[in-house]
Amino acid sequence: MRQTFPLIIALAATPAFAQEARQMDAHEHGTGRLNIAAEGNTVAMELHAPGADIVGFEYAPESDADQAKVAEAVEALEAPLDLFVLSEAAGCRVTETYAALELEGEDAHEDHEAHEEEHDHEEGHESHDHEEDHDDHEVHAAEAGHSEFHAEYSLTCENPSALTGIEFAYFAQFENALELEVQVVTASGAHAFEVTRDAPLLALEGLF
Ligand SMILES: [Zn+2]
Repeated sequence: MRQTFPLIIALAATPAFAQEARQMDAHEHGTGRLNIAAEGNTVAMELHAPGADIVGFEYAPESDADQAKVAEAVEALEAPLDLFVLSEAAGCRVTETYAALELEGEDAHEDHEAHEEEHDHEEGHESHDHEEDHDDHEVHAAEAGHSEFHAEYSLTCENPSALTGIEFAYFAQFENALELEVQVVTASGAHAFEVTRDAPLLALEGLF
């Protein structure tokens, strides 16, 4: 679903730690990335957002308050239609959802490669694979550095051509989030947008 798929294949050949560090060093606080890919009645969405945007910190959560904040954020991220409000006429419902906090350096263990292979495969990944890795991640959590929230969604839409816009309630939910770089890939091609807190609407007429 990603335009950068060949790049990801290349990165997959590099050591897992370098790959993860590169991704998180590259992020800019306030700016997340949302990829949307549609094929037939299926719409897949993937979100990467700095921990700073979602919970206001990027260290490994240790206090009860930090852990509660992360759990609350994950729960919010598991309800994509409350964050990314799609045109009602499209009749979209969520069929699969995954959300987790990923800490820089946490993936420097051998389970990571299997995780990435599963993750980067375009289809067929299952949430339980992520869950297993997530448990591992908590054990191997880094003390400091960047962190990102990562979420993936699969939706089924009865009438995808009626998907003419998205309202980003995401910005109301996460007060430190300022911008999302949105890529939309449909049969009509790839389209890039920037959606901001000040203008949280994305028009998609004619793309689906
Ligand atoms: Zn960061």
